[in-house]
Amino acid sequence: MAALTLEALTVKFGGLTAVNGLDLQIRDGELRCLLGPNGAGKSTTLDLICGKTAPTSGRIILGNQDITNLPEFKRARAGVGRKFQTPSVFKDLTVIENLEVGRSSEPGLLSTLRVFRSPVRGRMREVLELVGLEDAIHTRAENLSHGQTQWLEIAMLLMQDCRVILMDEPTAGMTVQETRQTAELFRTLRGDHTMIVVEHDMTFVRDIAETVTVMDMGGLLAEGSIAEVEANPAVREAYLAD
Ligand code: ADP
Ligand code: MG
Repeated sequence: MAALTLEALTVKFGGLTAVNGLDLQIRDGELRCLLGPNGAGKSTTLDLICGKTAPTSGRIILGNQDITNLPEFKRARAGVGRKFQTPSVFKDLTVIENLEVGRSSEPGLLSTLRVFRSPVRGRMREVLELVGLEDAIHTRAENLSHGQTQWLEIAMLLMQDCRVILMDEPTAGMTVQETRQTAELFRTLRGDHTMIVVEHDMTFVRDIAETVTVMDMGGLLAEGSIAEVEANPAVREAYLAD
């Protein structure tokens, strides 16, 4: 089943068509990489999916729910999780406290109380192990490395049980070692989580993705396996400088 479907999605900013009739279908459990030159419309596409930007036309369907006209917070509730390029963790709080705050930002006292119940605690530990922060549970976020901060944000998203997770250049600014660890994390998440990852680092993309989508000038330029896409002359021309 498709976790997410975009149908002829278009957004115009004045005279500029940033996303132009984009069709996209993401399977449940798929990790899809979104590639393309600067200004191709990748970040805007994520903005459209999470509701930060309203489309001019077209449809966005999550599972079988049309979310095109839902405001951003309702899409988050419906299961769209977005990781932005600038980290949004609470620097004064510890790693585990950040996860707790992330949980309790759900409406209602009950969900706040739920945080302190052991199944949620157990899940937090599980998620922190997954992202490799199990030894930093009580570290204040301001003392984490850049890579660790990114992983904490990913952990916060994983705690929300999103239907689809959107990430914009998650490895930007990471060391080679951190990038490698992130690739390993994504390979572990693949299958259990549905993710769209905008990424420039082709080594990283080759490491994690099964299917890639290449955008250019707001539209779909190519879609397929890494090998297919890298051999595509139009892609080489627009993006992969020889
Ligand atoms: P990418 O992430 O692929 O580099 P973007 O999605 O950020 O590209 O941008 C696509 C195009 O839309 C660019 O030409 C950019 O300048 C333009 N754009 C993005 N957001 C806005 C906005 N809010 N208002 C006007 N133009 C925008
Ligand atoms: Mg961008």
